[in-house]
Amino acid sequence: MIIRRFAAENFRNIKKCDIELSDGVNVLLGDNAQGKTNAVEGIYLFARGRSFRTSSDGDLIKFGEPGFRLSLEYLDKTGKQSLEYAYIDGKRLRKKNGYKVTRVSEMIGGFRAVIFYPDNLGLIKGGPEERRAFLDVAIAQCHPEYLGYYNYWRRAQTERNCLLKFIQSGMPVDRRELDSWSASLAEYSSFIQMYRREYVERLSAPAADFMADISSGHENMTLTYSSDIGEEFDTREAVRDEYYRIFRSDTEHEAAAGTTLYGIGRDDLVVSVDGVRMRSFSSQGQQRSAVLSLKLAEGEVCRMTSGEYPVFLFDDVLSELDSARRDFVMRRTAGKQVIITSCSGVEGLPADARVIRTRGGEFTA
Ligand code: ATP
Ligand code: MG
Repeated sequence: MIIRRFAAENFRNIKKCDIELSDGVNVLLGDNAQGKTNAVEGIYLFARGRSFRTSSDGDLIKFGEPGFRLSLEYLDKTGKQSLEYAYIDGKRLRKKNGYKVTRVSEMIGGFRAVIFYPDNLGLIKGGPEERRAFLDVAIAQCHPEYLGYYNYWRRAQTERNCLLKFIQSGMPVDRRELDSWSASLAEYSSFIQMYRREYVERLSAPAADFMADISSGHENMTLTYSSDIGEEFDTREAVRDEYYRIFRSDTEHEAAAGTTLYGIGRDDLVVSVDGVRMRSFSSQGQQRSAVLSLKLAEGEVCRMTSGEYPVFLFDDVLSELDSARRDFVMRRTAGKQVIITSCSGVEGLPADARVIRTRGGEFTA
């Protein structure tokens, strides 16, 4: 997958830009606060369906303007594709190859990208929610229908929690209504868990391979999906039935807490090296290596699922890596399209890397 052009209007600090990208390595080079991450944010929005930095499209509008417009032209194995996303006067407009699409799930899944930014280093040391979010975003790009299940799951959980709060505060609640939300929650939880477990299975081998490569064979990384119902339920129906059983059997405990105490909102991706859980025992260097391995493996799973590599976006991370890890990244992304941002320039880039100077929201190659 290759981006040909990225254009933006009144997006963050970008008044207007139209950037042509090369097939290989592209470097957005400029001082702090010039608009490098803004451009990456605009590009990645087409992969994720929304910004990775804010949940409000209003934040993306250049101060004082009524709205913004983004467009992306890319090539995939079937040919030339285009996507547009605009948010003007509070109205959202999405287009795919010139045709309006109403749902995010219709826009994503075509253009795919893997992003790596400094906050990702928390993926190993941070809480389970960061690792679940990593899985959720990666899965949605491979399987856009996942977003639908996810939204249904969230709604069921919110409604069920609301009823549990009512019971907690002594208000009358129709137990049949609670039971019906428990059934929905169990149903959608089972879909999400099966997608996640299957994704982790696919991610495991390439992640271990990258980790072994980066550590010259010293570190043996394993990934497992952990859940409060364990791993013994191996069909979606079995997972659903088990959650439904739990949701019905411990209602009084949950009502006392005023919230759902079980389910996929507590699951985790457990990353271990030589059998030791990295979250509790790992050095800074091991964490960096592990995050790089997970991100590159995300690209491999994307290729396994869709038949082509995603675009790799490295915001600010490459210049902070030591030369061994930087060489590893360049070697393992060779032949793919890569977009890097940097303030100071990156050593060890291929001679034909395209440098795009970034200043005050303007980009010049
Ligand atoms: P760094 O090297 O520090 O990461 P950067 O080039 O990646 O810098 P960006 O994050 O792209 O910088 O931000 C550039 C500027 O965009 C910031 O000064 C910020 O104030 C500005 N900015 C952010 N949102 C908006 C907006 N909605 N309207 C106008 N300017 C904005
Ligand atoms: Mg930045």
